[in-house]
Amino acid sequence: VWERCLRVVKESIPYASYETWFEPIRPVKLIGKVITIQVPSQFFFEWLEDNYVNLLRKALDYAIGKDGMLEYSIIVDTGNERHKPLTMNVTKAITPAPGKRDNFERDPRRHTQQPAKDLDSLQLDTYLNPNYSFDNFIEGDCNRLARSAGFAVAQRPGVTSFNPLMIYGDVGLGKTHIVQAIGNYINNHFPEKVVLYVSSEKFTNQFINALKNNTLSSFTDFYMKVDVLVIDDVQFLSGKEKTQDTFFHIFNHLHQLGKQIIMTSDRPPRELDGLQDRLLSRFKWGLTADLQAPDLETRIAIIQKKLQHEGVFIDNDVIEYVAYSVSTNVRELEGVIISLMAQASLTRKEIDVELAKNTLRNIVIEQSREISIDTIMETVADYFKISVADLKSKSRKKEIVYPRQVAVYFAKEYTDLPLKSIGVHFGGRDHSTIIHSVQSITELIETDRSVEETVHKLKSYFR
Ligand code: ADP
Ligand code: MG
Repeated sequence: VWERCLRVVKESIPYASYETWFEPIRPVKLIGKVITIQVPSQFFFEWLEDNYVNLLRKALDYAIGKDGMLEYSIIVDTGNERHKPLTMNVTKAITPAPGKRDNFERDPRRHTQQPAKDLDSLQLDTYLNPNYSFDNFIEGDCNRLARSAGFAVAQRPGVTSFNPLMIYGDVGLGKTHIVQAIGNYINNHFPEKVVLYVSSEKFTNQFINALKNNTLSSFTDFYMKVDVLVIDDVQFLSGKEKTQDTFFHIFNHLHQLGKQIIMTSDRPPRELDGLQDRLLSRFKWGLTADLQAPDLETRIAIIQKKLQHEGVFIDNDVIEYVAYSVSTNVRELEGVIISLMAQASLTRKEIDVELAKNTLRNIVIEQSREISIDTIMETVADYFKISVADLKSKSRKKEIVYPRQVAVYFAKEYTDLPLKSIGVHFGGRDHSTIIHSVQSITELIETDRSVEETVHKLKSYFR
């Protein structure tokens, strides 16, 4: 039955959302017309209820019928029994209520079973991915400081002077790998410690949700209880003042108690525009270590490790060819290896330099596909069912202004055009109008769920 529900869901939302919000769900049981699904956290459950309730209703109608009902079971982690997540039956959130605009009702029992302090029970899992370890992280000059500082922190969390530990570097150079490895190491060697890994985006979303649901104090309490906080990609906190205030609060609290804080960023702290000075100054209390692009030998070693892990043998000259050709980014390097293996098994050809050349050629072409401002304008106009001429027009109608701002936002994000020439494309608007549009959409993404979804959807068209 759940499979049938998923089919409806899959057709209705972008794949990225599906992957995030529906793939982690496990069907548990079906009794009569009530299906129970297990979700990973309270937060997850609330998100589904806030964003997908109508869709779920539609899916239930299709899979079970109008009187189908959905029950959630939320994985609750109690803190002292961290390794045995308890499953708690919480909610019957969706009941059919024909004729109502919002066709569901919250079960009143939810409120008796779930006191306002849900987050207190530390229900989130650690979000650690056991595939990232120090063992499978190849050391080279490019990453030696970051790796060894990370390892020191993993062995003595909160005790070294590397608190906070801040690791920065370009995308695909192993930031997430290292900090996850630290988390896993601590998790394995200090099982009594509560380790939490969170991306800054997720942190921000949780914060916004907590604001909305009046659960801010549970949110901060929750974070203040961890022993090791890993927060990935802090550059995303840029410009998000309220989120930063709360993070500042949490940071101070944890630091004072000698808890370990680990952060990553795609640039050095001094270049983190849009982050409050008081936060930046605290980042400097500990150690900042950078990751550089790997040198040739490190790249070869990374490829070999990867092949060994996959149990695949490739000639050294192919390995070297790939290592020579892809020099900036480990993720790319892995991508090439994976498509090489896929190609070889599809075409039943041997992996030789010839095949490697072809594979690389395809990949490079795909990457350089630029998004032009014309594509952006056409796509956005299409999406909102207006014309490109409308986007360029002087119209101040709401139905035009908002799409126009969205298009400007994407032009700024996805092209290298200077603001002035973006202005020219949009019917000769001046550069302050362009800045204003970008700012207002950036803010709306933070505060307005429907704007966030629109932008997310459009993004998926551009990919
Ligand atoms: P970032 O977070 O900096 O964008 P990731 O940590 O996601 O980068 O790394 C991208 C990919 O490259 C991951 O699959 C990671 O395991 C791999 N990787 C990066 N550096 C190394 C390394 N030194 N040794 C082995 N694998 C690495
Ligand atoms: Mg990362």
